[in-house]
Amino acid sequence: MKIGILGGGIAGLSMALALHKQGYSPRVYERRAEPATMGAGVTLWPNASFVLEELGLLQDIEAIGGRPKTMRRQDAAGNALGGLDIALLDRTMGYPTYTVLRRHLQQVLLDHVTRAGIPVKFGRRAVALEQDAHGRAVAHFENGSSIRPDLLIGADGRMDSVARKFVAGDNKPIYQGFVNWIGVAQCPHALVDDISIQDFWGAGERFGCVPIRPDLVYWAAAQARPLSEASPTVDMREEVGNLFAKWPEPVARIIRATPANAIRLIAVHDLEPLHTWSRANVLLVGDAAHAPLPTSGQGACQALEDAWHLARCLDGANGGWEEVFQAFANIRAPKTARLAEQGRVFARGLFATDPETCRIRNERAKASNPMHDVQVLAAGWGQGLPMPGGADIMSAEEGSFGSLYRIE
Ligand SMILES: Cc1cc2nc3c(=O)[nH]c(=O)nc-3n(C[C@H](O)[C@H](O)[C@H](O)COP(=O)(O)OP(=O)(O)OC[C@H]3O[C@@H](n4cnc5c(N)ncnc54)[C@H](O)[C@@H]3O)c2cc1C
Repeated sequence: MKIGILGGGIAGLSMALALHKQGYSPRVYERRAEPATMGAGVTLWPNASFVLEELGLLQDIEAIGGRPKTMRRQDAAGNALGGLDIALLDRTMGYPTYTVLRRHLQQVLLDHVTRAGIPVKFGRRAVALEQDAHGRAVAHFENGSSIRPDLLIGADGRMDSVARKFVAGDNKPIYQGFVNWIGVAQCPHALVDDISIQDFWGAGERFGCVPIRPDLVYWAAAQARPLSEASPTVDMREEVGNLFAKWPEPVARIIRATPANAIRLIAVHDLEPLHTWSRANVLLVGDAAHAPLPTSGQGACQALEDAWHLARCLDGANGGWEEVFQAFANIRAPKTARLAEQGRVFARGLFATDPETCRIRNERAKASNPMHDVQVLAAGWGQGLPMPGGADIMSAEEGSFGSLYRIE
C-alpha cells in the first residue's frame, strides 16, 4: 500500500515512523528545501514521552532534553503564584517530561526516519489536492510533479494546510488576540539556577522561560494585541527587552542572551474543531486537524498521539478507509477538541487586561492544590493512552491547564 504524508514536521515524521513500525512504507513530502532549523522549543509532557518510547525515540530525547522537576509561577512583580510539581506528574503518569529545542526534536525524528529507510522528499510544496475519476486524491506539487497514493495523510500544519482545504473547505485559522515572541538564549555561563520552568504572568502579558540546561533556555514572551499590530519590528530584542524590562530576573538576562536576529514573532492562531478530518482517502493529523493554542501546552504532544493511534487503527482494520478514519476520529476528536477549548480558556485568563480579573486569576493560582492539579492534568493528558495516570481519579473532562485556572 502506498502512503504519502504531506509535511515533515512533528506530526508527519512521527506518523511515518509509527506506520513503518506497523510494516507500512510511507513517503514524506516536505515543502522546505532542507530540514527545519527554526523555532524555539517544546515541552514534551509524559503523554508525549509514552509515544516517543513506543517509537523507540525516548533514549535520544533524553540525550538532548532537559528534565524539569517543577514549574514555578510568579506575577510580574515577582510574587509567587504557586506552580506545578512536574516530578509528581511524571511519577503519576509513569513517564518523564522533557524540554527540548524544536530543531533537536526534528533532528531526532529525521535521524530515525532516515535510519528506517523512509524517503523524505524536500522541496515538495503541495499546492492543491483534487479527486481523480476513481475518487482517489491526487496531490500536486509546486515543481509540477504529483502523487496518487492509496492513503494520503495531511500533516501540513495549522496556517495554510492544503490538505485541510481539500477536506474541510474554508476552515481558516483564527487569531486569538495575542502575539508570541520566541527565542533561544545560550551563554557560556548559567542563565538560571536550575532547570525549573518559570512562568511569569502580568496583565495582558506573559513570559515563559524553559531551560534545557542552565546555560540553554528557550522562551516565549506574549502580549495581547490586535492583529493589525502583530507584525515584526526592526529590532524585536529591543522591543521585547523594553516591554519586560521591569519583570523579575532571569527575564531580562535571557532576552539579552538571545541573538537579536534569532527572535521570531508569531501572531497566534488556532482552529475551530472540524466536523470531519477525512475526505476520500485523505486524513488530516497534527495541527492540520486540531491546532490548539500554545497555552494548552499540548500541540506537539497531540501530534505524536495521532501517530500512535492511527497506526493502531490501521492495524485492526478490515474494511475501507471510512471505517479506519471513523475509528481514528472517534478516539482523537473529543480529546483534541477539549484541549483546544481549554487552551482558549487559559489564554483568556492569561491575557486579560482588567486588573480585577488578573487579581482573581492570580489568587486562584496561588490557592491551587498541587496534588489536585497533578491529578487533573494526568487524567486529561493520559486519556486514551494505556498509561498510568488516573482517568479514574476524576473525569478527564477537566484535564488541562485551562480547567485549573478558569476565570469565567
Ligand atoms: C510558540 C509556540 C510554542 C509551542 N509550545 C509547545 C509545547 O511546549 N508543547 C507542545 O506539545 N506543543 C507546543 N506548540 C505546538 C506545536 O508546535 C505544534 O502543535 C506542532 O508543531 C504540530 O506539528 P505538525 O507537524 O502538525 O505541524 P508543523 O510543526 O507546523 O509542521 C508542518 C510541516 O508541514 C510542512 N508544510 C506546510 N505546508 C506544506 C505544503 N503545502 N506542502 C508540503 N509541506 C508543507 C511545513 O513546512 C512543516 O514542516 C507550540 C506552538 C507555538 C506556536
